[in-house]
Amino acid sequence: MGTVRRSVALLGATGSVGTQTLDVLRREPDRFELVSVAGSSRLRELAAIVREFHVARVGISHEQDRAAVVEMVGPAVEIVVGPEGLAALAASADIVVNAVMGFAGLPVTMAALANGRRLALANKESLIAAAPLVESVRRTPGAQILPIDSEHCAIHQCLAGSIDHPGHPDVRRLILTASGGPFRGWSPEQLATASTADALHHPTWSMGAKITIDSSTLMNKGLEVLEASALFGVAADRVAVVVHPQSIVHSMVEYVDGSVIAQLSRPDMRLPIAYCLGMPDRLDHAWGQLDFSTAFALTFEPPDVATFTALPLAYEAARLGGAAPAWLSAANEVAVEACLDGRVAWRDIVPIVSAVMDSYEAGSLSSIEDLYAHDARARDLARALVEVSS
Ligand code: NAD
Ligand code: MG
Repeated sequence: MGTVRRSVALLGATGSVGTQTLDVLRREPDRFELVSVAGSSRLRELAAIVREFHVARVGISHEQDRAAVVEMVGPAVEIVVGPEGLAALAASADIVVNAVMGFAGLPVTMAALANGRRLALANKESLIAAAPLVESVRRTPGAQILPIDSEHCAIHQCLAGSIDHPGHPDVRRLILTASGGPFRGWSPEQLATASTADALHHPTWSMGAKITIDSSTLMNKGLEVLEASALFGVAADRVAVVVHPQSIVHSMVEYVDGSVIAQLSRPDMRLPIAYCLGMPDRLDHAWGQLDFSTAFALTFEPPDVATFTALPLAYEAARLGGAAPAWLSAANEVAVEACLDGRVAWRDIVPIVSAVMDSYEAGSLSSIEDLYAHDARARDLARALVEVSS
């Protein structure tokens, strides 16, 4: 096993998924060779990764950081910059891990697939926004998307033999589990007083700031419905959500004969990361191993969609199709950033996204230029609403 070392590009290397990917790579030096990394901040950490793994190419976001990075990594390391730099790195590795945060991950997704690479995808925003474009580019010979997002990785495992059947006729529903976030059970009155600091305390997962806020609004689960629909080619009305506060069952597949298959582990992102890197092999590390010698309970409840309206908003975007998911995700990114910067309150996030969606203008989405135009339009509207709210 592991006779050929596979090259890995890790883009978004300094983030939460990025550092957990490094943890997996550290334990498997004979299987994987880290050949490129990218990050937009924490350049000192980025340089430390380059030195530890003897990485040949580094992507940064800003030209003005180049000199400082060269200083830290030495002149032999190639530096690439910006979205073109990300695309160049994604084009040339056996496995491309997209751990970039937000829509900025789009060049990674597109370039990895267009060049027939395995895309280990954490960056859901790029897939959601570009779903119609990804649909064609993922047919490039060799191209493959394996989901790092824990729910989708669970579904990938539960679909097992049925994974290559277009439309999955033997599947009734994909069932995404949600922890419910820090505000599970809160009333609308309580939520009106929720602070950003409260929202940043996730009950079961430790993640980057943006996705932690998305988990508190349930927008993350809404985005995951869109992600599941795009990944598995199943309409969003066949993707259900159930709240499961323990985050042990990572998601489920319900077949037409009533059988429900689930994937379980303690919450540990290194399990889905290792699954995506190792496929078709399973790496022998037992991340998140469950201890059945002690009693524990698993509970399930329906989501409170009357209170957490981000979820129905995402289903509505799925129903509209076209660029609506791109608008939803772009508006949400702007609102969440404003919340994290203290310019709007937590309670303003979903109303801003909702108002942007009320102004949604359907229009062609047949090229990357179309997508950037939709993204810019949704962001402009969201920024104007942030101004009014702050
Ligand atoms: P994070 O904020 O911790 O890290 C983001 C990384 O992306 C950093 O390395 C940052 O430098 C880099 N980055 C940001 N903008 C960039 C740009 N323009 N160019 C290059 N690099 C850039 O985020 P995270 O929590 O690791 O999440 C990353 C992605 O994975 C998100 O799409 C998130 O939804 C998804 N995801 C994360 C988790 C998790 O456990 N953290 C779970 C499931 C899915
Ligand atoms: Mg998830």
